[in-house]
Amino acid sequence: MSTNHLPDPPARLREQLRGVRGLLLDLDGVSVLKGRPIPGAIEAIADLDRRRIPYRIVTNTSLVSRRTLSRQGASIGLQIPPERIISALSATAAWTRRAFPGQPLFVITSPDGRAEFEGQHLMDAAAADAPGAWAAAVVIGDSADELTYPNLNRAFRLALGGARLVGMHRNPWWLTPAGPTLDSGAFVRGLEYATERKALILGKPSRAFFVEAAHELIKEIAGVGSSAGSRRIGRAALAMVGDDIWSDVLAGQRVGLRGVFVLTGKHGPAELARAAAQRRGGGAPDVVAASLAEVVAALD
Ligand SMILES: [Mg+2]
Repeated sequence: MSTNHLPDPPARLREQLRGVRGLLLDLDGVSVLKGRPIPGAIEAIADLDRRRIPYRIVTNTSLVSRRTLSRQGASIGLQIPPERIISALSATAAWTRRAFPGQPLFVITSPDGRAEFEGQHLMDAAAADAPGAWAAAVVIGDSADELTYPNLNRAFRLALGGARLVGMHRNPWWLTPAGPTLDSGAFVRGLEYATERKALILGKPSRAFFVEAAHELIKEIAGVGSSAGSRRIGRAALAMVGDDIWSDVLAGQRVGLRGVFVLTGKHGPAELARAAAQRRGGGAPDVVAASLAEVVAALD
């Protein structure tokens, strides 16, 4: 198969990625930046499809449902079906579905994001404000319009009343066309401070998120090819490709994935050096690559 539209990878990269059979790909800073495709990313993902190399997009982007995310990707040329996406939003909805079936939840998310919670019991503002209101969990997600003081105060009161405090992720900020932009992790921290409780985080960098995503991918790899199904596929056969050294790369490595850091996003050499020098929670990626395109071109 010709891959001559992708850059020629250094031999070092081929060696470091030998044996990788599936990819977990962060979205922002790997395939997309400030709402536009990163050079080579469209071709790289098309190449994965052509070569039938299984992958999942694993993203903390939780402003919209996977279906909408997929449509938005298509509008800028990225062809990613919803079933290949695992978002902090979808992972959180899957967890509340299992943990609290039929029980009331107070969820701060966009109207579109609510689609991921289909069939679950979501309280509205009036129900949350009713005297003696009770929720099994309060979930803090992304939505510029819903992360209001009244909603955060509802979440605070319900959490004091016994609801489990859940954050889709803990990201403090992200890059948009307007520049660094406040993210919902900052509000999760605020509620932890006010309630003196630790939130359960279900997106990256939580261990549960990566384990679930790896499990899904390994199942797919085991189903592809004739003899592969019977062989045990370890997590080291999967690479986590991300632009966040801590939340993507080191967190992925902690569950046994190969950690691939790409230089197309928010972190660069300064963060690499900082992570390497950190005594707790630091470390070095297994692989450093210029871009997703370079990673895909280096796969066997
Ligand atoms: Mg990213």
